[in-house]
This record gives sequence, C-alpha cells and structure tokens, in this order.
Amino acid sequence: MSRPVYLDYNATTPVAPEVAAAIRPFLHEDFGNPSSSHPIGQQARAAVLQSRQQVATLINAAPDEIVFTGCATEANNLALLGVAAKAPAGRRHLVVSAVEHPAVMQPALHLQRHGWQLSIVPVDARGRVAPSAVAAVLRPDTALVSVMHANNEVGTIQPVGEIAALTRPRGILLHTDAAQSAGKIGVDVEALGVDLLTLAGHKCYATKGVGALYVRSGTPIGGIMFGADQEHGLRPGTENVPAIVGFGVAARLARERLPEATAHLRRLRDGLHTLLAGAIPGLVLNGDPDARLPNTLHISFPGVTGRMLLQDASAVVAASVGSACHSEHDAVSGVLAAMGVDPARAAGAVRLSVGWTTTDDDIARAAAGLIAGWRQLARQ
Ligand code: PLP
Repeated sequence: MSRPVYLDYNATTPVAPEVAAAIRPFLHEDFGNPSSSHPIGQQARAAVLQSRQQVATLINAAPDEIVFTGCATEANNLALLGVAAKAPAGRRHLVVSAVEHPAVMQPALHLQRHGWQLSIVPVDARGRVAPSAVAAVLRPDTALVSVMHANNEVGTIQPVGEIAALTRPRGILLHTDAAQSAGKIGVDVEALGVDLLTLAGHKCYATKGVGALYVRSGTPIGGIMFGADQEHGLRPGTENVPAIVGFGVAARLARERLPEATAHLRRLRDGLHTLLAGAIPGLVLNGDPDARLPNTLHISFPGVTGRMLLQDASAVVAASVGSACHSEHDAVSGVLAAMGVDPARAAGAVRLSVGWTTTDDDIARAAAGLIAGWRQLARQ
C-alpha cells in the first residue's frame, strides 16, 4: 500500500537531503564542543559561525544578531520574557494579535499574570490585523508589540512593515514570529522593520530541535536561562552543532530556491483548490485569498467535520484540522474564532499545506481521496 500524500508541511517538513548530508560529519568525526580551544572544538565553532552567517543572510541580518535556540517556541519565549526582563519599570504594557501561536500567546498571558498589562488586537474575517487596530491600543508605557508574520493555520500574512511604522517612532520594540513564513516567502528584517524575529528549523527542511531568534543590534533583552555565555549569554548551553549546521544549509537552500519554490507551491496549492472546488459545491476558503502563504489551503467542507473527513481519507491524505498543536482537541480553533467563522464552517475546516517535494500526482491523489471521502460522509 502506498503512503498517504503528506499535506501537512506547516506542521513540519522532511529534512532536505543536502541538510542531512551536511549534518552527518558533525555526528561522527566533527563532534567537538564549540567552546573547546583545541582544533576539534574550533572546527565545530567555525561550523556554527558559518551557519549563523547563512541564517542571517536569509533574513538580511548580521551574523551576531542571530541567537540559536532549541525551537521556535523557545525563541518566542526569549523574545517576550527577555524583553520584559529588561523593560524599564514604567513600561509594562504588551500588545499581541488574537491569532498568535500559543508559543507567543502563552508567554504573553504569563506576563499578564505577573503584573503586565496585555492588549490583544482583533483580526478581520480574513485573519488580518489592521495597523489602525494596533495604533488604537498603543500607549506611552507600551514596551513590545508581537504580531506574527504569517499565520500557521490559515496562512494570512500580516502587515508587519506597516505596524513597524507605528512602533518605531514611539520607541516600542516589535517582534514577529516568522516560523511559518521563512522559506515560503521573503523574510527581510529591514523591510519588516522588526527588532526581534523568530525562526524554526523544522518548518523549512532542517531538523527539529533548532530555531533562532533574530535580535536587532542594541535591542535591550535579558536571558531567561542562566549558565555559560553561549549565544551572547541569551541561550546558555552547549550548542546543538549538527542541528545548527543543518539549519544553516536549509537557510541557504531556502534563499537560493525561494522564487522557484514560491511559484511551485502556489501552483500546486491552487491546483488542489481548483480540483476540490470543482467537485464540492459550497467549499469555502478561510483566510486571505491574496495575502496568504503560497503553500497553505485552509478550507471548510460543507456538511461534514474536518476531523471525520481526514479520518475517512487517512489512507490517502495526511493533513490536519487547524494547527498540529491543537489537533487532539475538538474545540473550535482560536484562530477561526477570532476571525468570526461560524461554528459549522469551523468544524468543517481542514488545513492542507504543500511543500517542496509535493508533486502533481500527489495533488491528484489527494484531491480524489478528499472528494471521495466528502461524498461518502455528506452522502452526495
Ligand atoms: N510559531 C508558529 C507560527 C508555529 O507555526 C509554530 C509551530 O507550529 C511555532 C511557533 C512553534 O514551533 P515549535 O513547536 O517548533 O517550537
């Protein structure tokens, strides 16, 4: 029996062959600790440095503005809690959007429980944060605004650059979670005007167990873990050299392949949408049809639940209802609720996300499986 078509690239990606090949020596002969002064350690140190350069280049940053972390969750925690640790006593107001990943929302709520004022900015029906809605909540004591670059569920791309035009002149720091956008669309810290930006290795063909936080030079931020002085003391602990090396190669591949990859993803994603919409009357797209990640198709099937449909079609398609982190729960996704999507439409939602290795044949098979599953369940 053939494997189901994998359409869950927003949950995680496979490791690119080039990444796997680059990692291998660092598991065996080049295993040194970058803090060791002998040549084996210094070789590992040089490899981490090269990776830092590659990741920085992907986002138009300087190498020493990259802090490697264990994952995007850790980078988001470091951004919010680290800025909070250094914020002046009179600046304890934080702003986040209503559609942030739990890796931003939970540290924000944690700060609120510890005396911070928190404003949660609503989104429109397409999942977009209006810059005017951010402007409306900014205060003289606002320390930090965190609005994600692209949403993990519906794929809506946020107007981060426009938000920076509001925060910058007021001396407010801006963080964006770019875990989903890096490698799918251009991510440029200068164009976005952000002070802090989160990346995730395993969403862009590197391994799990590595992420990064971009920290603009001069940004006041403290550590949230304490130990030795690796990563400017912001992420103490011996570096995960193999994963970091792989992340560097993945960043280089993402940059080299970006225009071609974006076009490939969009063509397959839109092809899948066309096949499904042609066979399923009443299928609706969630998210912004235009300002959206090129690989993400978040759709609601009429008359069925997304969960039942994916279960029915599980031999043919591997995908998620909403975010992988919440897929065990039956509650309506917080993102769809924030967009004002009605409960029936939210229940019928499925997130289909394509990747570099998705083929035309995959799309045809997946569409056929989903259409057959829907017909059976909806008795059409
Ligand atoms: N931020 C966004 C937007 C995500 O989509 C994810 C993962 O789904 C994360 C953060 C957390 O990533 P990780 O689980 O690798 O820490």
